[in-house]
Amino acid sequence: MAVPFRRTSKTKKRMRRTHLKKTVNAMTSCPKCGETIMPHRACPKCGYYKGKEVIKVQEETEENAK
Ligand SMILES: [Zn+2]
Repeated sequence: MAVPFRRTSKTKKRMRRTHLKKTVNAMTSCPKCGETIMPHRACPKCGYYKGKEVIKVQEETEENAK
């Protein structure tokens, strides 16, 4: 089996790893309240998804009730 001829230097290792980085999750904004939310999920702030209220949010339900 082939083995590396030389040990990879710290610099070479670090140069290679410059391309390895964590990516930020895709985020979008809620069309109703403008809150930054994850796509394809109901907004945790106002509970809306696709223009309809799909989940009850504590603060909002009290305001919207009467
Ligand atoms: Zn919202």
